[in-house]
Amino acid sequence: MRTQVAIIGAGPSGLLLGQLLHKAGIDNIVIERQSGDYVLGRIRAGVLEQITMDLLEQAGVAQRAHAEGLPHDGFELLFKGERHRIDMHKLTGGKRVMVYGQTEVTRDLMAARAAAGLNTVYEASNVSLHDFDSQQPRVRYEKDGVQHEITCDFIAGCDGFHGVARASVPASAVQLYEKVYPFGWLGVLADVPPVGEELIYANTPRGFALCSMRSHTRSRYYLQVPSDDKVENWTDTLFWEELARRLDPAARERLVTGPSLEMSIAPLRSFVAEPMRFGQLFLAGDAAHIVPPTGAKGLNLAASDVGYLSSAFIEHYRERSQAGIDHYSARCLSRIWKAERFSWWFTSLMHRFPETGEFGQKIQEAELDYLVNSEAASTSLAENYVGLPMKL
Ligand SMILES: Cc1cc2nc3c(=O)[nH]c(=O)nc-3n(C[C@H](O)[C@H](O)[C@H](O)COP(=O)(O)OP(=O)(O)OC[C@H]3O[C@@H](n4cnc5c(N)ncnc54)[C@H](O)[C@@H]3O)c2cc1C
Repeated sequence: MRTQVAIIGAGPSGLLLGQLLHKAGIDNIVIERQSGDYVLGRIRAGVLEQITMDLLEQAGVAQRAHAEGLPHDGFELLFKGERHRIDMHKLTGGKRVMVYGQTEVTRDLMAARAAAGLNTVYEASNVSLHDFDSQQPRVRYEKDGVQHEITCDFIAGCDGFHGVARASVPASAVQLYEKVYPFGWLGVLADVPPVGEELIYANTPRGFALCSMRSHTRSRYYLQVPSDDKVENWTDTLFWEELARRLDPAARERLVTGPSLEMSIAPLRSFVAEPMRFGQLFLAGDAAHIVPPTGAKGLNLAASDVGYLSSAFIEHYRERSQAGIDHYSARCLSRIWKAERFSWWFTSLMHRFPETGEFGQKIQEAELDYLVNSEAASTSLAENYVGLPMKL
């Protein structure tokens, strides 16, 4: 088999890249280790920046997000028992975010790919990458016990943190930066109306909590838990009781509980691999970087990488220009490190750190007080939350 771009991974990065390239007339094949249903069963991100919405638009898959998504103009910070609204729409001169689940983005991209008759290989095992330092890279995989090989011009490694693409690069060619946090997020998805119209980020002496949503009838809640905690230690009742303790009285009053559709613990990590290009192999999304989910940057960064990468390939095929390809890694990393900084800062501000004690809590509360009372500080928070421009 031959294609122009072989894409490893059918998460949001791989599928969005495939769709943008297809729109530009560039042939591509997506090779995914799991089944389509498995990919759709993963409950992850839910807040889309305008840049991500623009890319979905460009890919021709934004209709349902516009119809069913919830545009948000602000969010709330809860500390010392009181909520304070950050009006990001006002502070950023009219920008907002869209609440629309990653699962739905993936579903829309899969549907568009199927409708266009594009080749996606699900349940591919033993995927391996070869000769990406030459002009004739190859991808091999096994499907139903049969070996296959794809030759291509480029390989896009969109296969997440545990994928094969980054692991195929010699260790001496890549520099890794990592910070692991001593806690995780226990998440619950439930078909109950959200506690508020907007997201609530809570800093409490009992630990962080986030009240988020997927629609007017489906809520996503999170609690900070120690990194060695297990889902088996929790029941729905224990979760709702602990969430209620971390809310202010008015929110606690409004909290509607119900059976969880999903409960899981996500570890928190900051991670960057540099560079993101190795000859004809390009990393995008979680394959190259991870942010802690505070600030909702993971999916959005994956989308902006794909924005740069699709433009680079389009420039290459249409204009025979190498410029986008040569600048891909530096362009992405400049934006990624700013989002890494923001996600690390927001995580540090909102969570309880075992080692900092009551002094740490007082410092956080002082900074939060400053944030909500200083227009300069609120503006900086809002500007980062809605997403920095692609060209900065
Ligand atoms: C539990 C969890 C919760 C999260 N919550 C949030 C959140 O609330 N907000 C937020 O902004 N971000 C969140 N994120 C981050 C966000 O979901 C990711 O940034 C986003 O999924 C990145 O998309 P991706 O396509 O790059 O990677 P992925 O979504 O990981 O997709 C990679 C794909 O590659 C496939 N793959 C892996 N290895 C191979 C292989 N060897 N061969 C072929 N295919 C392979 C995988 O099966 C997968 O389908 C969360 C992430 C996790 C793990």
